[in-house]
Amino acid sequence: MTVYDLHCHSTASDGTLTPAALVARAVQRGVHCLAITDHDDVSGLSEAHQASMDTSVRIVNGIELSTVWNQRTIHLVGLFFNADSPILQEALAALRVARYRRAEAISRALAQVGIGGAFEGVRRFVTNEALISRSHFARFLVSQGHVSHKQSAFNRYLGRGKPAYVPPPWPTLSDGIATLRAANGTVVLAHPGRYPLTASAMRCLLEEFRDSGGGALEVFSPSHTPWQNESFVEYARFYGFKASLGSDFHDPEESRVDLGGLPPLPYGLTPVWSA
Ligand code: AMP
Ligand code: MN
Ligand code: MN
Ligand code: MN
Repeated sequence: MTVYDLHCHSTASDGTLTPAALVARAVQRGVHCLAITDHDDVSGLSEAHQASMDTSVRIVNGIELSTVWNQRTIHLVGLFFNADSPILQEALAALRVARYRRAEAISRALAQVGIGGAFEGVRRFVTNEALISRSHFARFLVSQGHVSHKQSAFNRYLGRGKPAYVPPPWPTLSDGIATLRAANGTVVLAHPGRYPLTASAMRCLLEEFRDSGGGALEVFSPSHTPWQNESFVEYARFYGFKASLGSDFHDPEESRVDLGGLPPLPYGLTPVWSA
C-alpha cells in the first residue's frame, strides 16, 4: 500500500522543520508520497525535491493558498502545479505584501490591548521573512506568557472577532482557484470541516468551488471529527470531487497527527493522485 500525505508545513511558512527534515521524517514514518504545502509560498519545494532524491519518498509540488469567501478565510491546497508559473509567482508576490501589512496591523492591535513589541518579538519565530503568519504571533504570545497554549492565543487574541483579528486580505476563492489552475494545478478544498458553515452554506461553498474549477476535497484531516470525515466522503461522492488527505503537520510538539498518520482513503472515492 502506498502511503500519501498531501498537506504539511515547513520553515518556508509556519512549520518548524526544514523541507529536508520533513523529507527525512517522511522516510522514517513510511510515507511514500509527500506534498509540502506551505502557506502562500513555494520556496521550500526545491530543497524538498533535492532531499528526496535517492529516498523512498516522492515529493509533489504543493501549496496552501489563503483565500476569502463570504468574508471567511478558506484554504486551498494546490497540487502538481508548475511552481515557475508567472501567474502564480505574481499572486504570491501580492500575498507577501498583504501578509507584511497584516502583520503590522496585528502588532498595532496587540499594542492596543497592552502587548507591545509584537512586530519585533514575532521575528524570533519567523523562519521566512516573506511569510509571517498568525502561528508565529501565537508562538510569540505563548513565549511571553500572555497565554499558555497556541490555541488560547487564537481564542483570546488572534481568532475571528478577537482584539487582534485583522480581516483577511487574501484574494477571493475563485481568483485563488484560477491562479492555481493557470499554473496547471489541481485544486483541493483544505480541511472543509474547519469552516463553521450551516449545511446549506456548505453546499453553496462546494458548488462555487466546483464551478470555479475546484477538483477535490480534503476528506481526511486532523481538523475533522470522525463524523466530519464521513460527511466529506459523502460530499465528495455526491458532487463527484476527487479525494485528498493530509496531516497538516506543523511541528512535532504542536501537531497531534504526524506525517502519514491518517488512515487510507475509503474505497469508492477517486484519489486526487489518480491519473
Ligand atoms: P494565517 O494564515 O496567518 O491566518 O495563519 C493561519 C495558521 O494559523 C493556520 O494554518 C494554523 O496553522 C494556525 N491556526 C489558525 N487558527 C488556529 C487555531 N484556532 N488554533 C491553532 N492554530 C490555528
Ligand atoms: Mn499553518
Ligand atoms: Mn489551513
Ligand atoms: Mn495547513
